[in-house]
Amino acid sequence: MSSNGTSKKIIAIQGDITQQGVDAIVNAANESLLGGGGVDGAIHKAAGPALLEECRTLGGCNVGDAKITKGYQLPAQWVIHTVGPVWRGGNDQEDQLLASCYNRCLEIATEKRLKTIAFPAISTGVYGYPLELATPIAIQTVKDFLQGNTTIQQVIFVCFSLDSYDCYKHFLLEMLPEK
Ligand code: ADP
Repeated sequence: MSSNGTSKKIIAIQGDITQQGVDAIVNAANESLLGGGGVDGAIHKAAGPALLEECRTLGGCNVGDAKITKGYQLPAQWVIHTVGPVWRGGNDQEDQLLASCYNRCLEIATEKRLKTIAFPAISTGVYGYPLELATPIAIQTVKDFLQGNTTIQQVIFVCFSLDSYDCYKHFLLEMLPEK
């Protein structure tokens, strides 16, 4: 499912982010960067143990920030690890911190001159961020960042569940209507 409008660059697919042959995949990590469950566990499993070795050298990562490593055995060349906010009801700067995750990942990708990047639905698993609130923040932040950015050619939202895919399709049509 793709959407034109402001940008032909933003699409959503249903799938497994570890299988995406893009320049960088984004990992929804925790502050230790030393692995976890969900998409984090899947990425470490697919990348192999060398990913954890590199992550050990990074000294963790703050909520809303991101750090890059190589992709090792993944089809993606790079992994950008970001730490989303834990949902605490919405009055704890969750929306700014979530937007910051997407912005920092895109900044790092641009610095590295990467062209294609795949995001999972950051914070919407164990961290409990409601999907229908997180999704428009993800789309708006990416849309705003890509305005005037000539480096990044495609951003793929990789939805693991049908529910999240349906949610992304809904908001992409609403926020990036086909012209
Ligand atoms: P968080 O702790 O940031 O909530 P999770 O890994 O628990 O991170 O969940 C984030 C999102 O990633 C959820 O929507 C979950 O369904 C999704 N997810 C889990 N595994 C994968 C995968 N292999 N590829 C893409 N998305 C995934």
